[in-house]
Amino acid sequence: MTTPAFGTFFLPGPTEVRPEILAAMARPMISHRSAEFEALYAHCDDGLRRVFRTTRPVFISSSSATGLMEAAIRNAPAGPVLSLVNGAFSARFADIARACGRAVEALEVPYGEIVPLDRIEQALRGRRFGAVTAAHSETSTGAAQDVQAIAELAHANGAFSLIDSVSGMGGMPVETDAWSLDFVLTGSQKALALPPGLAFCCVSDRYLAGVKDAPTRGRYFDIAEFAEYAAKRQTPNTPAVSLFYALEAQMTAIGPTGMECRWARHAAMSSATHAWVEHQRQAGRLDGILAPAGSRSATVTVVKTCAGVDARRVVADVATHGLTLGGGYGPLAATTFRIGHMGDHTVETVTRLLDALAEVLAAR
Ligand SMILES: *Cc1c(COP(=O)(O)O)cnc(C)c1O
Repeated sequence: MTTPAFGTFFLPGPTEVRPEILAAMARPMISHRSAEFEALYAHCDDGLRRVFRTTRPVFISSSSATGLMEAAIRNAPAGPVLSLVNGAFSARFADIARACGRAVEALEVPYGEIVPLDRIEQALRGRRFGAVTAAHSETSTGAAQDVQAIAELAHANGAFSLIDSVSGMGGMPVETDAWSLDFVLTGSQKALALPPGLAFCCVSDRYLAGVKDAPTRGRYFDIAEFAEYAAKRQTPNTPAVSLFYALEAQMTAIGPTGMECRWARHAAMSSATHAWVEHQRQAGRLDGILAPAGSRSATVTVVKTCAGVDARRVVADVATHGLTLGGGYGPLAATTFRIGHMGDHTVETVTRLLDALAEVLAAR
């Protein structure tokens, strides 16, 4: 099997991983209780603090991101949870809270929309909640929410903010400290363009202070234990060492000042995609973008096909050009496809994809 050149895989997770990053994983195992591992851990933590824009440690979990969604709930103070639900992943956050025995009130809006701030405020005023859950970039719909404003509303009403930025972090501005996010999490395989298998989170001091009293924190995702081990530059259990090699390589590549560049590149990729969809819509070949202008993710665009055009066929036709798109999620499978313009993609690789997609649409 030959490896294709970078720039063919536009799934909104896992995203395409550069060959250098894949190669970094082909190193021998080391003990996770060694000085060598502690140095590796320190490099990863330093890089992640820059990604998260925090001076506090970023905890590294050998799990998928869903594990840390569960951690956010399990370690949160007792009390009902207000879940903002505007797609499949934010619905998952609510489901996890229910599965962990929390009373959940879901504020739901149709797929593609965002939850209006006044509705959130009204709900928070009406009842005392322990925490609010929200998806920053809802990967199933391409909608982006103002998590800074959501965190402010939560705090003003005595609740913690639990933020899923799995497809936001690394591609869109997230200011963990400046926005006072209580628990913000992401996964390795989205805008950070690493293989799947690691998840990262940062917690506020007041969240951490309450963890010891959280009745449901369990064992594998005990944030107090993560904090204890992070202070020693270790993880509580055997970490996915190979993935740490990849993480270290990516943090080095992003460098000390790379975040603004990364955000700007994602903004450029999403603008190019939005403009292209609008052009196709005017030509009668697409129905437009699911999320309204002003609340669109910089990392993923969910595109509606015209009536009678099965989006699954579009994805299959593009695949014959050697290019991978994401299918529509759940109830949106027949009517939408998803373009993951995130991670280490560039305007150039995205433009090549859009050119091929234009050919496919024109040939229908
Ligand atoms: C991908 C994704 C998740 C789930 O991540 P896993 O690593 O598959 O557990 C959760 N939330 C959002 C917004 C995502 O995009």
